[in-house]
Amino acid sequence: MKRLICWALTSVAMTAALSAHSEEASWTQPQKPFQIYANTYYVGTQGLSAILITSAQGHVLIDAPMEHNASMIEANIRALGFRIEDIRVVLNSHAHSDHAGGIAELARVSGAKVRASVAGAKALKLGGKDPEDPQYGEAPLFPAVTDVGLVRDGETIHVGTTELVAHYTPGHTPGSTSWTWRSCDQEHCLNIAYADSLTPLSSDGFRFSDEAKHPHRVEDYRQAIATVAALPCDILITPHPDASDFLERVAKRDQGVKPNPLIDTQACKAYAAGASVKLAARLAKEKTEHPH
Ligand SMILES: [Zn+2]
Repeated sequence: MKRLICWALTSVAMTAALSAHSEEASWTQPQKPFQIYANTYYVGTQGLSAILITSAQGHVLIDAPMEHNASMIEANIRALGFRIEDIRVVLNSHAHSDHAGGIAELARVSGAKVRASVAGAKALKLGGKDPEDPQYGEAPLFPAVTDVGLVRDGETIHVGTTELVAHYTPGHTPGSTSWTWRSCDQEHCLNIAYADSLTPLSSDGFRFSDEAKHPHRVEDYRQAIATVAALPCDILITPHPDASDFLERVAKRDQGVKPNPLIDTQACKAYAAGASVKLAARLAKEKTEHPH
């Protein structure tokens, strides 16, 4: 289970070992970059998202998955005709190597400012070695990000005409953050939600329900799930595209399927509902194993 960093286990019967191997391969598989909607682009790999939101006054990059993918993400951005040097801000879903491993490098080559939630900034500065992380000790470490500015819960970040809202969604990690923005194709604007991983994975021995060790964690987790359910959400994107069948939906859209399979105003609610089921199962298991 060590490499299963934040995979959404959709099939209960799926053998963890097998899925972990196949998932890991996709994490570094090249994916042709493409337009999601208007000024929002996918520049990640087949198994890990990286999102570019452009404007004439500068761009935003959300997530830089895996240290070794940094040059691939850079090439994807250039292939779309954009300049790395025009990235002004790099944001993160959560500080695990599969979403933050390339942030230090991409911030360096772009000169962009990295910004994160309070707990997220702490974990980024520690290169993932955060004792508060449920996967502490097992999640692979990544190059630490030395300079991280803070973003408050609910704060809006402005880059040119782009406005991104930070939504703290702690649970998978304490610093987990979901992001929403609007992208407009002329007059037609859509709400895009980049909802963070909500899977309750941990190192051996960790209990989300250990109130003595870390109070309110379950309460905060439930609140985060409720926050995701309520996000403005015409298009849902997740850090692991497979967690929301994202690339399949893109493929159908590109085949001309109507209505556009990418647009689903219920997608965030469904994603949150799936997380609720997983959290409930996890808490039931913790209760069985530690009845007191
Ligand atoms: Zn993770």
